[in-house]
Amino acid sequence: MKRGIVLLLVTMFVTYGLSSYFLVHYKVQKNDTLYSISLNFSVSPSLILDWNPGLTLTSLRVGQEIVIPQPPGYLYTVKKGDTLVIIAKRFFTVASLIRRANNLNSDVIYVGQKLFIPESIIGRAFNNEKFFIWPVYGTISSGFGWRIHPITGKYSFHSGVDIAAPEGTPIFAAESGIVEFAGKNGGYGLMVKIKSSSYEHVYAHLSRIDVYEGQYVKRGQLIGRVGSTGLSTGPHLHFEIRVNQKAVNPMNYLPSRIWVLRKELIGAGGE
Ligand SMILES: [Zn+2]
Repeated sequence: MKRGIVLLLVTMFVTYGLSSYFLVHYKVQKNDTLYSISLNFSVSPSLILDWNPGLTLTSLRVGQEIVIPQPPGYLYTVKKGDTLVIIAKRFFTVASLIRRANNLNSDVIYVGQKLFIPESIIGRAFNNEKFFIWPVYGTISSGFGWRIHPITGKYSFHSGVDIAAPEGTPIFAAESGIVEFAGKNGGYGLMVKIKSSSYEHVYAHLSRIDVYEGQYVKRGQLIGRVGSTGLSTGPHLHFEIRVNQKAVNPMNYLPSRIWVLRKELIGAGGE
């Protein structure tokens, strides 16, 4: 047996949940990096970051225990007003696949319930276009252009679109690229900036960031969760597309089929 496999066997144990997945509890070894662990378990570094709150690229310590789900997937905590159909849409998939992954006999769910969403079912139903995709399923609460700022009350330019969605809603990379910035940025709160060959995209007000600077992310990969950090009146994603450092109207680049709902002034906005 290869030394690597032996090491894996003595440094981890598994726990089973009610769902069709189990958690590997892995003890960090000398010379491990987030990337090497992700390769060992055939998961993306983002998945490890999402499952291990507080973990960062530099905080990894020998002996530290991290959890990794198998098969790869994400947890979603049911919010008030959620239905299985709406949750399925937030992962751009269908309810029946979530039902199966969680051994549910019906569509009845309860607030606070944790649902396991296998990576393999994400993006299966829609929002899988070739170029840009919608980063979040939600309600457009503010468009691109001049407006009265919801917090400052001043007439100002809104450099992106705001998509309102509950805290914890997954955010997916709209296009493949390299993470250029991941961290706090003033009124943008927790923010991720991804650079592709021709564009930069900005994702702001996150509740958590699941990528690190320098990481390559694929279109459709989970990069964080919706929040309300920075200058914001409620959970939403502020999404920007920039060309040569200049913000352009994302609606001209996102798929013409609007997967997100359009509704003005539903009360979540900000920078
Ligand atoms: Zn905004």
